[in-house]
Amino acid sequence: MIDQDKISNAVSAIIEALGEDPSREGLQDTPRRVAEMYAEFFSGIDADPAEVLATGFEEGHRELVVLRDIPFFSICEHHFLPFFGSVHVGYIPKGRVVGASKLARALDILARRPQIQERLTDQLVEALNKTLEPDGVAAVISAEHMCMSLRGVKKPGSRIITSSARGRLKTQTADRQEFFDLLGEIR
Ligand SMILES: [Zn+2]
Repeated sequence: MIDQDKISNAVSAIIEALGEDPSREGLQDTPRRVAEMYAEFFSGIDADPAEVLATGFEEGHRELVVLRDIPFFSICEHHFLPFFGSVHVGYIPKGRVVGASKLARALDILARRPQIQERLTDQLVEALNKTLEPDGVAAVISAEHMCMSLRGVKKPGSRIITSSARGRLKTQTADRQEFFDLLGEIR
């Protein structure tokens, strides 16, 4: 459970530490707003993506399924700044398939935690592997990180691409090739 009062007090302390006046008009509701925003950003901390994916359905399909260009945003745990972009998922069902909206909700649960992109990619693949028990599953995430764009190396527009795979999409070259062919150029 997220303690919004505690976040609000901490934000007031940051405002004071900046030498600003937390009681001035523009800032007086800021701690509460930030606390509400964090509660939304981190709403996935106590949620389980497997519960959402458990409502997949049986289907005779045994060929590769690709869901591409699923938009997402998450918060980098090193700087508490957003990273965002798109997620591409492929899996080879062994009977169970999942709807695009369920997959998007599972992704949001994992994204709405203090995250790093590599772990998000891996957790998504693991959640799908556990719940659908497919012959293979893979995910590719392409994202821009505000901590790279706004601070530090200041390279807006640069993206990080991560991938993770299990089963045939990890071990079988032909299956991997089909997946990446279907994805086409990743931006
Ligand atoms: Zn960062």
